[in-house]
Amino acid sequence: MRAIQIHQTGGPEQLQMVDIPLPEPAPGQVRIKVAAAGVNFIDIYHRTGLYPQPLPFTLGLEVAGTIDAVGEGVSEWAVGDRVGCTTASGGYAEYALAAADKLVRVPDNVDLETAAAVLLQGMTAHYLTFSTFPLKAGDTCLVHAAAGGVGLLLIQIARRLGARVIGTVSTHEKAELARAAGADEVVIYTRESFVERVRAFTNGHGVDVVYDSVGASTLEGSLDSLRPRGMFVTFGNASGPLPPISPLLLSSKGSLFMTRPTLFHYIATPEELRWRANDLFTWIGAGELQVRIHQRYPLSEAAEAQVALAGRATTGKLLLIP
Ligand code: NDP
Repeated sequence: MRAIQIHQTGGPEQLQMVDIPLPEPAPGQVRIKVAAAGVNFIDIYHRTGLYPQPLPFTLGLEVAGTIDAVGEGVSEWAVGDRVGCTTASGGYAEYALAAADKLVRVPDNVDLETAAAVLLQGMTAHYLTFSTFPLKAGDTCLVHAAAGGVGLLLIQIARRLGARVIGTVSTHEKAELARAAGADEVVIYTRESFVERVRAFTNGHGVDVVYDSVGASTLEGSLDSLRPRGMFVTFGNASGPLPPISPLLLSSKGSLFMTRPTLFHYIATPEELRWRANDLFTWIGAGELQVRIHQRYPLSEAAEAQVALAGRATTGKLLLIP
């Protein structure tokens, strides 16, 4: 089968299309015929070595498709079941393996491309707003990269929880998309100070929570946008990882809370995984959550997809269609 592998870490040129044997599911695993694989920042971090992996490594964690073989001891899944997963092994390929207890069932009214497009970024938006800082009516949140994959979903979920959303984006086109998703206020942070705008929008008070996926370039402004005892949720490094932060900085900025969460700790149990995925599928089925697919690429163009995502050129989800 065809797959995209790296044999050493580095730039997008390290992504190689290879022909490898069909993987066999180990006990407790299933094999999925991949209908679509999500392209995510974590794949870029695997490629560059920021998050090291044993080599050679087939990239791709997020897939949706149809079960094509089940390993020993798997009783709850059968060949033909439509499933999605955000912890697959070797998703940039025609077939991928996944642990049976990490699968979610894709309902018939949700197509497999939409499932691959929503699971990782949507469950991230879900845990950030339901669990990390549970939003309630009347809260105000600041969402950076608001027209991105996570951003557009985060806006919609925050709004359905009754929160007021201030989004930041780099261009007018992205601002329109963030507004269409429901953002109450949008700041073009490449042209104006988002700290000043946030202060103006909140009568000088600051926001209750900042959901920051941008990282290095927004750190200081994010802390300065919070109300006293607000929460800084730093969950990504799109502009580079954060430097070490002194606890005293949190004190001087207003007894702030800070957390650096990752999705995998928020879908660690089957109950939590199913709760988040089923919420997303229910909202999609009811027409209450819009999933924007920016572009679909053939497997052979995985490098182009990663370059576009890292290059700030995308709005919404990028998919590989094997
Ligand atoms: P996005 O679609 O949000 O793309 C990244 C966006 O970040 C860009 O479009 C851009 O928006 C903004 N950005 C700002 N500065 C830069 C820069 N220097 N280089 C590149 N982009 C920049 O990506 P995703 O939705 O896939 O992921 C967003 C972030 O969330 C990533 O950092 C990812 O690692 C993280 N993440 C974390 C998870 C977790 O559980 N911790 C899970 C999922 C994702 P603009 O042009 O508007 O500034």
